[in-house]
Amino acid sequence: MNNLFTLDDKRVLITGSAQGIGFLLAQGLAEQGAEIIINDITAERAEHAAMKLRDCGYTAWTSAFNVTDPEAVESAIENIEREIGPIDVLINNAGIQRRHPFTEFPVNEWNDIIAVNQTAVFLVSQSVARRMVKREAGKIINICSMQSELGRDTITPYAAAKGAVKMLTRGMCVELARYNIQVNGIAPGYFKTDMTKTLVEDEAFTQWLCKRTPAARWGDPQELIGAAVFLSSKASNFVNGHLLFVDGGMLVAV
Ligand code: NAP
Repeated sequence: MNNLFTLDDKRVLITGSAQGIGFLLAQGLAEQGAEIIINDITAERAEHAAMKLRDCGYTAWTSAFNVTDPEAVESAIENIEREIGPIDVLINNAGIQRRHPFTEFPVNEWNDIIAVNQTAVFLVSQSVARRMVKREAGKIINICSMQSELGRDTITPYAAAKGAVKMLTRGMCVELARYNIQVNGIAPGYFKTDMTKTLVEDEAFTQWLCKRTPAARWGDPQELIGAAVFLSSKASNFVNGHLLFVDGGMLVAV
């Protein structure tokens, strides 16, 4: 059974993985044997995160690039595959959040959200998938959200982008499954990270969240690792186009 979930011989690129959920996934997948490539915009932050993994005895590389820049993405993926080796698993994790009422939302912030949360998934996946298609093997995991399904006050552009990532996951699945590439999504509920800092500090929000979530608590980012191991391993070789909600039951409750 253990072999079903082993990630020995898997090389995993995780975008935006110098901190938060991306870094915890890097640690969790490395623990199962994966070789990790940490991505961040800045080389220093990526190197710092990779050092932490190496200190634990894991194999970690870095590739610093802005996931929203088409040329930077293409040249980084080419370099990774030439210098480090083929990418077996891609996790599209980089994301940003901005909060304003819909009627006040500045268009430049809308553009930033769409670029990082949506267009980057297209750009990085396309570049990696072209190479996976040739090898007829690969796994792509898109980090979606509760907001792939549900709207919420002040974060309409984020919900629009995460809804699009759900449909990118399904569309990519339809086009890539025939090449033995499994494309799936992980949709986290509410987890304590830098992105949710303002909500974590808001006691009224935490009270609302605990009432609204069947599990009656915040998620611990460590609790996303199991889903990522499953979707990266051969245990999920016939799982295609699925969104795995890790949300304490929030989506199924009114
Ligand atoms: P986080 O702590 O803010 O981490 C996001 C990471 O993305 C940061 O390391 C950030 O780097 C990186 N990033 C942003 N723009 C980038 C770019 N243009 N190029 C490369 N890297 C970039 O957030 P998180 O909570 O871990 O979120 C990770 C993912 O989970 C996101 O897709 C988010 O939407 C999703 N998610 C989170 C929650 C939650 O409860 N936390 C719930 C549902 C979904 P810098 O800091 O250097 O900018």
